[in-house]
Amino acid sequence: MAQGTLFIISAPSGAGKSSLIQALLKTQPLYDTQVSISHTTRGARPGENHGEHYYFVNHDEFRTMINDNAFLEHAEVFGNYYGTSRKEIEQVLSTGVDVFLDIDWQGAKQIREKMPAARSIFVLPPSKDELNRRLRGRGQDSEEVITKRMAQAVAEMSHYAEYDYLIVNDDFDLALSDLRNIIRAERLRMARQKARHGALITKLLAD
Ligand code: GDP
Ligand code: ADP
Ligand code: 5GP
Repeated sequence: MAQGTLFIISAPSGAGKSSLIQALLKTQPLYDTQVSISHTTRGARPGENHGEHYYFVNHDEFRTMINDNAFLEHAEVFGNYYGTSRKEIEQVLSTGVDVFLDIDWQGAKQIREKMPAARSIFVLPPSKDELNRRLRGRGQDSEEVITKRMAQAVAEMSHYAEYDYLIVNDDFDLALSDLRNIIRAERLRMARQKARHGALITKLLAD
């Protein structure tokens, strides 16, 4: 069986990447697409659950995981630590399922170095004003946190050209359709198709 594809999605906070991934997953069966659940030292927002949105851990637990080489990548973002655990991802990819990582540019860089077959997608907002509106509209972060995230937005966006694909999330449905098309195209690549249709190809080429 062909390995699944690892998709990395990054964007400045509030650009809509979590909404895009959630909308995508609603229409994809679990046996072909999953999202990786990161570990983080940040506190849970209202409505966020341990093991669903993140594994919420303290600094000591995070340190121990770093020392045990449990992370495929980890980074400090907005003063908290975030990391992707190695075990889950490698196991899921080996069963042919595509895995999504919602991670920042530092994490994306580490993954590209370790897993060159990964595909990366950057999401931009249509304007800074709209980014500000979305961060506030989400209504889940304090004024201090919003200010910090807006201040970091240009730094995050300055890495857009390191990615394979670029989506501008203005009209949500259009952006979602762009995301679906990227996944579809990756699934049609020769290596994946050869593995999927091996029996057919053998039959067609037989004398
Ligand atoms: P969001 O910006 O509203 O999605 O806020 P989050 O708290 O969910 O994410 C904070 C930052 O951490 C974002 O830049 C994410 O892309 C990044 N992030 C989330 N998960 C991971 C991860 O597993 N690894 C890395 N490197 N970054 C992550
Ligand atoms: P991120 O994960 O990138 O931080 P979210 O997915 O949490 O961003 O989106 C931030 C806010 O913007 C949410 O309230 C979401 O509903 C809203 N949003 C996302 N995409 C759009 C869009 N295309 N048009 C308007 N609002 C959007
Ligand atoms: P939030 O605190 O809003 O959930 O996430 C803030 C930022 O951290 C987002 O840009 C998100 O993509 C990033 N992030 C979340 N999990 C991870 C992770 O495991 N690793 C890295 N490097 N970044 C992460």
